[in-house]
Amino acid sequence: MRLSKFHLATVKEVPADAEIVSHRLMLRAGMIRKLAAGLYTWAPLGLRVLRKVEAIVREEMNRAGAVELLMPAVQPRELWEETERWERFGGQLLKIKDRKDAEYCFGPTHEEVITDFARAELHSYKQLPLNFFQIQTKFRDEIRPRFGVMRAREFLMKDAYSFHLSADCLEREYWNMYETYSRIFTRLGLKFRAVQADAGAIGGNVTHEFHVLADSGEDAIAFSDGSEYAANVEMAEAVAPLQERPVATAPLERVATPTQKTIDEITAFLAVSSQACVKTLLVRGCTGLVALCVRGDHEINEVKAAKLAELPGESVLADEAEIIKAIGCKPGFIGPAGLPESIPVIVDRSAAALADFVCGGNADGTHYRGANWDRDARITRVADLRKVVDGDPSPDGKGHIRLARGIEVGHVFQLGTKYAEALKATVIDQSGKNHVMTMGCYGIGVSRIVAAAIEQNFDASGIVWPEPMAPWRVALCVINPKNDAAVTAAAESLYAELGVRGVDVVLDDRGLRPGGMFADMELIGIPHRVVISERGIAAGTFEYRARRDSESRQLSRDEVLALF
Ligand code: ATP
Ligand code: MG
Repeated sequence: MRLSKFHLATVKEVPADAEIVSHRLMLRAGMIRKLAAGLYTWAPLGLRVLRKVEAIVREEMNRAGAVELLMPAVQPRELWEETERWERFGGQLLKIKDRKDAEYCFGPTHEEVITDFARAELHSYKQLPLNFFQIQTKFRDEIRPRFGVMRAREFLMKDAYSFHLSADCLEREYWNMYETYSRIFTRLGLKFRAVQADAGAIGGNVTHEFHVLADSGEDAIAFSDGSEYAANVEMAEAVAPLQERPVATAPLERVATPTQKTIDEITAFLAVSSQACVKTLLVRGCTGLVALCVRGDHEINEVKAAKLAELPGESVLADEAEIIKAIGCKPGFIGPAGLPESIPVIVDRSAAALADFVCGGNADGTHYRGANWDRDARITRVADLRKVVDGDPSPDGKGHIRLARGIEVGHVFQLGTKYAEALKATVIDQSGKNHVMTMGCYGIGVSRIVAAAIEQNFDASGIVWPEPMAPWRVALCVINPKNDAAVTAAAESLYAELGVRGVDVVLDDRGLRPGGMFADMELIGIPHRVVISERGIAAGTFEYRARRDSESRQLSRDEVLALF
């Protein structure tokens, strides 16, 4: 490609709403341009990167045995009624009408369409297993589209759906996809982790998300520094302390804490550490209030709490009036000692291992010192209730938990029979009976990967692409081409030779000043730069510099060619 014939449009200024570095750099490099909220044009430069990601994803999906197809973006309402998702999918579903007033949505995902396809196409167990995939534009009316293509409304997704006779067979394909995703992100040159995730509302059981690690990531993940263990922070198990609970030594003593309510105020006032305190929250249970207790230095994990049998599937704090009515004191003074019998006390594993602790006195302006489980306070049940913290032992027993931020770029999911049942997608099994198919689904955010890669790979001058994603691998920068025929001839000859060798090369023949040309190539992140100048040609050399290097080197033509 000759840059003089391309549309490269780098800019200096970006709008203030471009909050994160990838959004700013994609705009500055001229990779994307905004049309409206969450809607972007992929300019020629951006599209080159997007296509490279797409090609790697497609190649690895094919290699893994999945079969490509392409489904319509526009999907009829009736199909979404069959799975009851027309209403349930909520505000993200963009609904549209045709000229006859028939209703459609712009597909945010394709479980309905693929299952409709499968019920028509698949009749016999002999056709299974099958994994269909497509790379296609989705629309989700996100509440807060932001960060450019990272959370857009229209975006490119690779989605795959597999069909099986049995859960065992699904499980095999699931791990095949897990391995395939690991290969894809490794090939793209990204630092990533496969993370155990919450199956949430989609139903089904086993699911992993693939996260690119970056400080700007929206998700918090916990991983072990001594093993492959990684989980969403909401999911990560907080294991029980190794030491047994010490025996009670202190007497229970009520102390005045007139205005001290928070853990910080209490620890300062009573000169104790937060690890020696128990924090108690009252939430609304299925049949009345429920007390949740964690150690003073820990936080309740609401996702874990919501799963407790005593709670109605969500964790909602009781308000002040409810608490005063039930206990007779304000929220800051609640503790497990002496709570009414009707309130179950669910205690986190770490809090349950405490003895002689400080907790609320269940009367305004008081706390207890020297409180002890069993002797002074009831435990209805010990459970994993808290958020993991940096340094916790890893749940697999190997290493310690570290916390990091991640960007979700992929998701694999064992769906089970939910969609096949709703749409009656059956095949005839070995014994001639109708058998509902079992399904898996596997998504990759192709366009999000482009932004996520930049979050991980940039410096003060711009993007530093991993080679497999770069718009071009090599840039040939020609200094003053119009002034010197020998310079032009050398550049053209090197350009032609690299082209013959199949190297993805761009010739910067725009005739810009060196400073502007170099700044552009650094901003758009080309991994290798070769400068062809009058001085170099006179000395028989080219100036070479890798994007990650701090110094240039003088190389002969053969040495340059040997690099690629
Ligand atoms: P998120 O939690 O980020 O909203 P999701 O759970 O809704 O993601 P999936 O339905 O699993 O995502 O979609 C598969 C992949 O599509 C995601 O892993 C993500 O990489 C990508 N993706 C989802 N929503 C968007 C979006 N609004 N913009 C760009 N990519 C997206
Ligand atoms: Mg989403």
